Amino acid sequence: MSCDYTALANKGIQGLRAYQAGKPIEELQRELGLESIVKLASNENPLGPSEKALAALAGAVAELSRYPDSNGFDLKAALAEKLSVGTAQITLGNGSNDVLELIARAYLEPGKSAVYSQHAFVVYPLAVQSCGARSIVVKASDWGHDLNAMADAIDNDTAVVFVANPNNPTGTAIDEAGIVDFLDKVPANVVVVLDEAYFEYAAGDELPDGVSLLSHYPNLVVTRTFSKAYGLAALRVGYAVASEQITDVLNRVRAPFNVSSLGLAAAQAVLADEDYLSRSIEVNRQGMEQLIGGFNSLGLAHIPSRGNFLAVEFNTDTEILYQQLLKEGVIVRPIGVYGMPKHLRVSVGLENENAALLNALQKLL
Ligand SMILES: *Cc1c(COP(=O)(O)O)cnc(C)c1O
Repeated sequence: MSCDYTALANKGIQGLRAYQAGKPIEELQRELGLESIVKLASNENPLGPSEKALAALAGAVAELSRYPDSNGFDLKAALAEKLSVGTAQITLGNGSNDVLELIARAYLEPGKSAVYSQHAFVVYPLAVQSCGARSIVVKASDWGHDLNAMADAIDNDTAVVFVANPNNPTGTAIDEAGIVDFLDKVPANVVVVLDEAYFEYAAGDELPDGVSLLSHYPNLVVTRTFSKAYGLAALRVGYAVASEQITDVLNRVRAPFNVSSLGLAAAQAVLADEDYLSRSIEVNRQGMEQLIGGFNSLGLAHIPSRGNFLAVEFNTDTEILYQQLLKEGVIVRPIGVYGMPKHLRVSVGLENENAALLNALQKLL
């Protein structure tokens, strides 16, 4: 006797669709037998990992038979020092994705709701619905978060609000005055998650530093990652900074040993590698300029972005164009699941990678 095991799953999970990741290079190689492939699909750091992180990994390999330090003592100490917070305010995660799920699991359940924006990072609906909570999706304004409408949308049962700054896949960002004004409006019993996955790329120029706002807003949780500007996407290390009380709650649901010893060691090393971070930011600045110039010449509009990616608008079917680009050996990201069927998201790559994308587009359009 067999059952419908989908129908037996939690209600929220029944309505979900698995996360669609950017196509791995090896997969395209297997499918099309192409030699040279450019992947601009997952907002990865095109520089490759920091040499210092690689050296730290080599050291950590000798201890692979041991469990990692489940409390991440050294990495937390380094982060606490850098961010001027206490170590008891930091939660380490298997990528910041893990931390976003911990927040949902800790504060959401059936009968509660979470507010986030249209076109916001797709992990929010996944996290919310898998907890059986209700999603309140607020219409975007100019592709960005409409924080006034988001504050108004907070309901009696709302427990969490997700704000991505800058947002993925639109690249839109909110200035400090906007965030502060929003935080002032949100009731203290609603946890505000400020997802700063692209903080290092966007820092300065009016962009708020969420960590500096923590002392004023005990309901604020700031999440960051080592996957983007720090170039360690494969190792899955992210973190949340929040009040000690929220941090204690998140640690109750955190899986033991959720960050590997390799991740801990490499993250600590790259955190101290200021040269790598500044090169990453500079390569991104130059690549962004190159791509914008190229898109302009091709007559393609894009959404101004503060991240390491651009959402580019097409008047052709992007699903077909995506497939055609694959055949040219260029992997980008269709973002129909984000409610943006006319856009493709392209990550900023090295000069030759950006050129490969622009050449392929010129040929195809
Ligand atoms: C990439 C990304 C993350 C998480 O990445 P991890 O690799 O899990 O740390 C979180 N939020 C946004 C908006 C992102 O784009």
